[in-house]
Amino acid sequence: MSTKPDNIENLQQEISRLKNRIEEIEKAKKQCEEIAMKTLESSEERHKIIFDLAPDALYLSDLKGNIIEANQTAEKILGQDKKELTGKNFLELNVIKTQDRHRATKILAKNALGLKTGPDKFEVETQTGGRIVLEITTFPIIIHKERLVMGIARDITERVQAEEFRKKNQQRMAFHVDQTTLAVIEWDLNFKVKRWNPAAEKIFGYTAQEAFGQHASFIIPETSMSHVDQIWMEVTHLKGSRRLTNTNRHKNGNFLICEWHNTPLINNEGEVIAVASMALDVTERIRSEEIQKVVYNISNAANTTGNLNKLIHRIQEELASIIDTSNYFIALYNKDEDSLSLPFFADEKDRFTTFPAGKTLTNYVVKNKKSLLATREVIDRLEKSGEVEAIGSISEIWLGVPLEIDNEVIGVLAVQSHQNPNAYNEADMKMLEFVSDQISLSIHRKNSEVKMMDALEKATESDRLKSAFLANLSHEIRTPMNGILGFASLLKYDKINDIDREKYISVIEKCGIQMLDIINDLIDISKIESGITELVISDFDLNHSMDFIYSFFKPEADAKSLKLTVRKGLNGDKALIQSDREKIYAVLINLVKNALKYTKRGEIKFAYKLDNNILRFMVQDTGIGVPEDKLTTIFKRFVQVDPTLSRNFDGVGLGLAISKAYIKLLGGKIWVESKLLQGSTFFVEIPYVKGKTREIEKIEKPSLPDKTKSKLKILIAEDDAINRKLLHTF
Ligand code: ADP
Repeated sequence: MSTKPDNIENLQQEISRLKNRIEEIEKAKKQCEEIAMKTLESSEERHKIIFDLAPDALYLSDLKGNIIEANQTAEKILGQDKKELTGKNFLELNVIKTQDRHRATKILAKNALGLKTGPDKFEVETQTGGRIVLEITTFPIIIHKERLVMGIARDITERVQAEEFRKKNQQRMAFHVDQTTLAVIEWDLNFKVKRWNPAAEKIFGYTAQEAFGQHASFIIPETSMSHVDQIWMEVTHLKGSRRLTNTNRHKNGNFLICEWHNTPLINNEGEVIAVASMALDVTERIRSEEIQKVVYNISNAANTTGNLNKLIHRIQEELASIIDTSNYFIALYNKDEDSLSLPFFADEKDRFTTFPAGKTLTNYVVKNKKSLLATREVIDRLEKSGEVEAIGSISEIWLGVPLEIDNEVIGVLAVQSHQNPNAYNEADMKMLEFVSDQISLSIHRKNSEVKMMDALEKATESDRLKSAFLANLSHEIRTPMNGILGFASLLKYDKINDIDREKYISVIEKCGIQMLDIINDLIDISKIESGITELVISDFDLNHSMDFIYSFFKPEADAKSLKLTVRKGLNGDKALIQSDREKIYAVLINLVKNALKYTKRGEIKFAYKLDNNILRFMVQDTGIGVPEDKLTTIFKRFVQVDPTLSRNFDGVGLGLAISKAYIKLLGGKIWVESKLLQGSTFFVEIPYVKGKTREIEKIEKPSLPDKTKSKLKILIAEDDAINRKLLHTF
């Protein structure tokens, strides 16, 4: 313990030291405060710099929206000085649109609740009248215990504009894609549909819904697939655009031709992410180009081909590029004979298979002068209504167009399919109609040429025929004449016995009949040619005529060991008909006579029946037959299958020509079907007119008058002495 004065002194010293210490501490504190102050000032400064230079607009406001502080970017964006902004409520600044005020107030309300907001988009008006879009984010903060709002506003005008531009572009593109006539299709990397516009729907028939996810093969026919795959590889691997013209398939199965433009869609990394294709349906264009080409080629072919048949083949080849012609024919129509003929090729010359037009589909087209696209259903309907009759195997679809010249049908071009009912459609019909004019012209031209050549050939042929006929005629007359004269001179000998005399007389008789036949034929044909042959119509029983012919030829058939049968299709009064009996006799006798003449063994049948008011006669034999190329010509005068004198059969080749002329006069037709060495069937058709009475009918028997029974006196005017003498003996 110290003494009091010492203690005081010490205490004072201690106090002074403490004071100094306090002073030092105060000083240090002051220094610290100064330092702290300085530090604060510099950090505020820094923050201020950061605040001012920030690229986004920053502002500080109270919870009512009164701006306390705003940075330079805010000044720039709004075009207003900081000082002008400070203290103002941003709701009243006229920068926020009236319709957005409510939203802005809501943001302040959220801030008041201590919540962060944004980013929210606001379109604001600058002082200079410009419009900018700000993306505003706000944070509630507390500064010096005061709750304030820190706002960050980013100018996104450019971004928004770019987005709008992109959107507009997209909309415009979408509009174009929807409106365009081009099919716009996007494929994924598996070649499956990702996008399918309305034009694609229209072109290929599939809706977008049906098409999505489908592999491209649904519109690409098998035959084009490998080519398309190749293009796909090029587009996706070589990353280049490729064009191609390709055959495609519509939903309904029809083929179409499209022009494709394929482009790979590549991302920023350079990878192909899809393929965009545009397709244009060029079927019509290509078709019309092809059709033009076909028309041109066909018209050219008429000049370059040698005959009609070759021309028809060329037409088929040309048409094959636009339509399936694997089952094609052109039938030519003969109006006079109401027949159709199919030209075929043989010996560098045109030959024709001719048949009655009848109730064929082809004739239906001829008669209606209109194209016919007949499905099986239509054919059935036409058959049921009796308008056509099916011949051969029935088509699934049949398409025929008339070939016309000067409004007259000269033929029919037809295509058909036995398998595919969709092989042809209306468009094919229109197309064939389009080319049919050129085909008609070409055929007509070639036909005229061919006819001229034929006429020339015929003139030569007719010359040749005439010579052959005369040679034949003289042969045919000389033979019986020699017989008559030879045997007549033999009769003069006294020494011949009765048996030989009978034999000679019968030979003379036979030769006479043969002569008479030839002369009758010659007279008949010259009457026909000079147009004086007339019909003598009467009522008679057709069955009597048939019976007569049967009994007339039976002995000859027996002599040749041939079976002869007759079949009559009508009974009783129904067989009573009204027609020219003599002409019908002449025709049937000629046919049966020929059948006997040209048949060595087998059978001869002749018959008739009534069918739809038509009398149909048939004379069938099992003889030598007629070659195919002679089926129509044997009905021409002087034409014989074997015109040589060395042939085994007599006759001058007039019988069928006379028969044909008679049948034509009777309003009917005659034709033959035959197989060489197997036999022939001659057909005759004439209209059936029912007879009314039997009164005037005379049943005629070809026998000489029996002079022993006759007591009648007959006056004969005959200028030929020999004939007179002969008649006198009866
Ligand atoms: P022809 O007097 O020569 O018999 P046609 O006009 O009656 O004269 O017949 C013409 C030709 O037709 C005959 O020469 C013959 O070649 C052929 N012909 C006619 N009928 C038959 C038949 N039934 N069988 C085979 N050929 C026949």
